[in-house]
Amino acid sequence: MSPTGHDHGVAAADGWSVRATEALAGAGYRRGGARAALIGLLDAQRCALSAAEIEEALRAGAGGGRPVARASIYRILEELEGLKLVTRVEVGQGLARFEAAREEGHHHHMVCDACGIVIPFEDVELERSIQRLAERVTFTVAEHDVVLHGACGECAASA
Ligand SMILES: [Zn+2]
Ligand SMILES: [Zn+2]
Ligand SMILES: [Zn+2]
Repeated sequence: MSPTGHDHGVAAADGWSVRATEALAGAGYRRGGARAALIGLLDAQRCALSAAEIEEALRAGAGGGRPVARASIYRILEELEGLKLVTRVEVGQGLARFEAAREEGHHHHMVCDACGIVIPFEDVELERSIQRLAERVTFTVAEHDVVLHGACGECAASA
């Protein structure tokens, strides 16, 4: 225990992992093991990872050092997505990436169709436009998702 009474000094600031752990337990999923490892890993990321990258990182010891099979990773990601704790980012060709659905740090993605890199971006004007649109249309906007496709700087330069 540290003097402040908290021993979670390395946990991310917005408490996503705590929220995710509690929501999974509330939904009747068993605590610990592969789920805890995956939550720990996702909480340490700024942006989305593919299932292959998640598998690789867990094998390399991230999120508590526990290898998790790809099928289990997909199953847990589906559970988390179902509880709106994880956002799926479609990057084309049926490929998807996954990231923690945080209350803060809302952002969107640019996907390079040549090399597959995913670059996060934030844009206040874009958020305002979506907000204005939501007020104008006869449709209740619950969430939104913006993905820009194209070529990253490197790929555009070598084209
Ligand atoms: Zn992201
Ligand atoms: Zn590229
Ligand atoms: Zn947005």
